[in-house]
Amino acid sequence: MNIILLGPPGAGKGTQARRLVETRGMVQLSTGDMLREARSSGTEMGKKVAEVMDSGNLVTDEIVIGLIEEKISGGGDGFIFDGFPRTLAQADALEELMNRLGQTLDAVIELRVDDEALIDRVTGRYSCAKCGEVYHDRTKPPAKEGVCDLCGSTEFVRRADDNEESLRQRLFAYYKQTSPLIGYYHCKGKLHPVDGMAPIEEVAASIDRILDSLDRG
Ligand code: ADP
Ligand code: AMP
Repeated sequence: MNIILLGPPGAGKGTQARRLVETRGMVQLSTGDMLREARSSGTEMGKKVAEVMDSGNLVTDEIVIGLIEEKISGGGDGFIFDGFPRTLAQADALEELMNRLGQTLDAVIELRVDDEALIDRVTGRYSCAKCGEVYHDRTKPPAKEGVCDLCGSTEFVRRADDNEESLRQRLFAYYKQTSPLIGYYHCKGKLHPVDGMAPIEEVAASIDRILDSLDRG
């Protein structure tokens, strides 16, 4: 089964994707993570995208489609597309790629979250520097303060773009370029909206119900 997690920045896509990796053995493909990796490795492409990411705008379709193609062209399934596609051109490219690989896209889970809640989520977000587990100052602190629940590391990082100013631009990009995908996937009969305002475990349970019903065919 291959799915897309769709939603604005801070909606909980990464949090839910990581959980599905743990519980269902799926493979998380986050274009945001791939781009952050590229920028920290200092490649030409990394340098090119760093400024765009910090401003809250979208990186070019060509670059992100290339990154995804590299990851999935080896075959397999169980992919969770997290933060991709973000434009109609990316959605078309994904469909073409999946057809070429004989794969199907089974569901698009849309996480619905109010704008005010997104500001709080994004400005309170941090993650483990070692394993990437995602935390929040208020809604999801580690069980033991300053220690990662998963790997025990005591080092954490905050994203350069997780501030109100960049979020405003990222939201603008979301509504202008990404939200048309909601209608697109609705027309294709693949859209499954989920209340992303609920606590993490409740959102997870809603997603499980959708995936279980698809599994049962
Ligand atoms: P996205 O990948 O969509 O940008 P994240 O999964 O990184 O979003 O979540 C953004 C922030 O909100 C993180 O700090 C995370 O711990 C927190 N968070 C995620 N889901 C929820 C939820 N359902 N309720 C409260 N906080 C949440
Ligand atoms: P994310 O980690 O998903 O919040 O993405 C962080 C930033 O990476 C975004 O604000 C964009 O600049 C860039 N980015 C991630 N995924 C994409 C994508 N599919 N298309 C274009 N830009 C992307």
